[in-house]
Parts: sequence; C-alpha cells; structure tokens
Amino acid sequence: MIVKLPCVRDWHDHDLTGLLQHRRTSHGRGTRGARSGEAFCARRSIVGDRSLPSRGRIPGTSHSSDGELERADSGLRSLVSVQGALTIQAIHSFGSSEQHARWLLGLVSGERVGCFALTEHGHGSDPDEMETRAERDGDYYVLNGSKCWIGNASIADVKVVWAKDEDGRVGGFVLEKDAPGFRARDIEGKFSLRMSRTSECWFENCRIPAENRLPNASGLKAPLSCLLYARTGIAWGVIGAAIDCYETAMTYAKEREQFGRPIAGFQLVQQKLVWMAQEITKAQLLALRLTRLMETGAARPAQISLAKRNNVWMALQCA
Ligand SMILES: Cc1cc2nc3c(=O)[nH]c(=O)nc-3n(C[C@H](O)[C@H](O)[C@H](O)COP(=O)(O)OP(=O)(O)OC[C@H]3O[C@@H](n4cnc5c(N)ncnc54)[C@H](O)[C@@H]3O)c2cc1C
Repeated sequence: MIVKLPCVRDWHDHDLTGLLQHRRTSHGRGTRGARSGEAFCARRSIVGDRSLPSRGRIPGTSHSSDGELERADSGLRSLVSVQGALTIQAIHSFGSSEQHARWLLGLVSGERVGCFALTEHGHGSDPDEMETRAERDGDYYVLNGSKCWIGNASIADVKVVWAKDEDGRVGGFVLEKDAPGFRARDIEGKFSLRMSRTSECWFENCRIPAENRLPNASGLKAPLSCLLYARTGIAWGVIGAAIDCYETAMTYAKEREQFGRPIAGFQLVQQKLVWMAQEITKAQLLALRLTRLMETGAARPAQISLAKRNNVWMALQCA
C-alpha cells in the first residue's frame, strides 16, 4: 500500500502551485523563488527535521518528506537537499558550537540560503583531485580555485567550500555572503531540474577569517559523508516522482474510454498500474528500513547506494 504524508501533501497541493509555476517559467532564476522555496520548507520544518536530530524530529519522517517535495518538482527536492543534507549537515557534523550558533539557526529557519561546493570544472566523480586551495595567512585563509555545478552558489548567504590546505588535506571553509574575491555565475539552459539554481563560481585571493574553517572536517571523508545523506534523500525523493506518475496514469486510465469503456477496465492496463503500486510500496519499505538504519548509525554506504539505485530505477520504469 502506497503511503502518503498528509501534512506535506496538503502544503504542496495548496501552497506550492503558484511558486512552482513561477520557478518553472523563470527556469529557476530569481532570488525570490529560491528564498520563498526555502522559507516554505522551513515553515514546515522540513529542512530542520532532517538536519538536526537533537532538535526532536519525528522519527522516520526526516527524509520521507522528500517524496512529497519531489512529487511537486525534483528541483524543489534538490534545493532542500542542498540546504539540509549538505550545507546544514556539514556545519552540524563538523562545525564548532560557536559555528553552530552563528550559522545553523538562519539556515534551518530558511532565512539564509546555503550551498555546498565540492565539484570542480575538471573534477566531478574524483573530488580528491580538487585544485582549489586554502592557504593560511595569519588570522585568515586565502582561497584560490573554482567550483562548478553548485546548487544556489550565486545567492547563498553561507557557502561551505571544500578545498585543500597547505598539507594537501581537504577541509571545509565557510564563506559568508559578499566575501571579497568570490564571484559566481548561474548555469543557464539546463534540460532538467530547471527549478533549482545551479552555478559555477571562482575564488580569487578570497580571504576569510581562519575561524571559518570547520574544525572537525579532516579529509575527503567529511564531504563524502554529507553525500550519503543527500543520497538517502534521493532514495525517498524519487518515490514521490513515481507516485505522481502512478496517480496521473490512474486518473487518465479511468477517464479515457476506448471500446466503450474506460481503459482502466482492461487487464493489460491494470497490470501496469499494479506493477507501479507494487514497486512504489517496495521502494518505500526499502527507504524506510534505510532511514531506520541511519537513525541508529548502522547504515553502510553500500546500503545507501543500493536503495538509491533501486528506487531511481523504479521511478524511471514508472515514468
Ligand atoms: C543539477 C546538478 C546539481 C549539482 N549540485 C551540486 C552541488 O550542489 N554541489 C556539488 O559539489 N556538486 C554538485 N553537482 C555536481 C555533481 O555531483 C557531479 O556532476 C558529479 O560528481 C559527477 O561529476 P561530473 O559531472 O564532472 O562527471 P564526470 O566525473 O566527468 O563523469 C562523467 C561520466 O563518467 C562516468 N564515470 C566517471 N568515473 C567513472 C568510473 N570510475 N567508472 C565508471 N564511470 C565513471 C560518470 O558516471 C559519468 O557518467 C551537481 C550536478 C548537477 C548536474
């Protein structure tokens, strides 16, 4: 049986329609759209629920809301993933208590937009080869390099940037809005995920206070651990896309008449709808089991990838 999250679904059905039309037609551009999207999410505690376990989230709902978001638009789920699973998660996991106090509240409330900059123009699947450098200069770090395909980089107030220090060790460095030496440009003309903004950005002698380095992020495993949360969100999110396909197909099959009756009355059509309902239900169980494992810290990366792989395949088959 397909499970739905009523509170997020109501919000989608009643509040999101106008926002989605605006974002789709403007190809994801305009700060108003991105900021209002984050604010909507924050109002429903969707971003915060998943990101700050200590704040008392409802067990099991942290990533399941991704399904309802993606039922609306994959770009909306992506936007929330960047804010929650990547930016907030990085600061929450690897930041000091002072850094938590400084940045997390605004990010969780949606008043501040975050981004997570790992990928570079020449280094995507292999981020260990990253060229961006952060060199210590007294009480500052000076960043040089570039990043590409970064969600919300051009409008982000809080940017978590991954760069190598003088020892060649990957570290996390937080840039605040308008840091000198930082510039970004949106990538235009994406064929999909048009609702979410994606940017390339450059750091040219970009000077940030040394205290902006995340003290507990040491090595590439830090950003990679955040990607595990993002993958879990995708495993949930694509279920929403599949549910939308199922509901659309079901509605059409009931309305469309051929040979004197709705095509939903033909067993070959029913078989396709049943397959979708069956695989969506199995995908939900897989994602729920994964979330339970993550809540106890027992999930392994291979299990996370397996859930994402299966559920993405399932959604593509439904489509
Ligand atoms: C819409 C969008 C939003 C994004 N948002 C962010 C973000 O917010 N932050 C961020 O840091 N990054 C972001 N990314 C970047 C994303 O994570 C990278 O696209 C990803 O890491 C792959 O890198 P690449 O695109 O450079 O592909 P490449 O690494 O160049 O790979 C090209 C192809 O080769 C294949 N390939 C590579 N290596 C192997 C191998 N060893 N074996 C078999 N096949 C291989 C890949 O699967 C792929 O099909 C975003 C990307 C997109 C499209």
